[in-house]
Amino acid sequence: MNQTIEELSSFLSHPQKIIITMHRDPDADALGSSLGWASYLIKKGHDVTVISPTEYTANLKWMSGIADVLVYEKSADQGKCKRKIEQATLICCLDFSALSRLKDLGKVVQDAAAPKLMIDHHLEPEHFAKWMIWDTHAAATAQLVYSLVKELEGGLPADQLFDVPTAENLYAGIMTDTGSFRHGNVTPEVHLAVADLMLTGFDSSRVHRMIYDNAPLSRLQFLGYVLSQKLVVLPEYRTAYMVLTEAELLKFHSSTGETEGIVNYGLQVENVVMSAMFIERKGEVKISFRSVGTFSVRDLASTHFSGGGHKNASGGRSEQSVNETVAYFLSVLPAYQQELLNVD
Ligand code: 5GP
Ligand code: MN
Repeated sequence: MNQTIEELSSFLSHPQKIIITMHRDPDADALGSSLGWASYLIKKGHDVTVISPTEYTANLKWMSGIADVLVYEKSADQGKCKRKIEQATLICCLDFSALSRLKDLGKVVQDAAAPKLMIDHHLEPEHFAKWMIWDTHAAATAQLVYSLVKELEGGLPADQLFDVPTAENLYAGIMTDTGSFRHGNVTPEVHLAVADLMLTGFDSSRVHRMIYDNAPLSRLQFLGYVLSQKLVVLPEYRTAYMVLTEAELLKFHSSTGETEGIVNYGLQVENVVMSAMFIERKGEVKISFRSVGTFSVRDLASTHFSGGGHKNASGGRSEQSVNETVAYFLSVLPAYQQELLNVD
């Protein structure tokens, strides 16, 4: 056991009042890892409250424990969130490592007296946590939660540590952060963790269907529109990009969840190694980047778009107009051309 785990283990040997929170617009890894960690802590006798900074998408509502998640930006929940955070003896920060990713909740967490535990796999973490379970080689935060619970419990097999709903939540996080086990972050450890989790006997195909084959018709129609009308390919930069204005989103009644993942389609075009999506929403432009192989979209996002993330999946934002933002993106591409052409 390393020192962090030893200290945590002894801290958790007494009942604590624990907050678990995750990044804004939480995805299946953020929520799955948080709910998985919550169910472990609840079983150990702790008082646990899970708080999401913002609403989550409808395809995650099947997750066990989600009905008890408080949403900080909902005025009906905010008072309770603040009270719980004030009383907390531990604040767990999952699937993010910069407090700005908590939106308005960031300041509340920063000012809270309780020690913080970070469990995360993003690059370049801020140092606000007393304990850090931080590993950029982990494909998902859910994988880190799985390993942490195993370590705290002396390596027992997963079917003795996790119930089916908990294993499903952790599996969902690992499955989505690896793009259903096809991204460059898939390692033997990922498959070993998943194999172990599957010993609990859950239906992995059902988890996949709940997440990916559970969209309102409008999302598919919107996707059809984006792919047929909005996808631009620049072969000389091996780059694809899409731009969506607020007016288009309104026309398709598109919620945040309906644009999620669409950026990945750019990478399905032959020879493309970077895909970008620009979304105009609430007075800012949110940008998603995806890449394959050696090309780092994290560097691009952090250098030019106040963002960050992982080498092959990053994001950023801009307060300029959507046209100015895209023009700026196009203007920086020549500097990356050689690197883009060199990707295997
Ligand atoms: P997405 O495109 O799905 O919104 O984000 C992909 C990844 O990029 C996320 O998992 C997260 O790591 C990172 N990311 C997205 N937006 C931001 C941002 O504004 N700042 C930072 N630091 N990372 C981001
Ligand atoms: Mn993650």
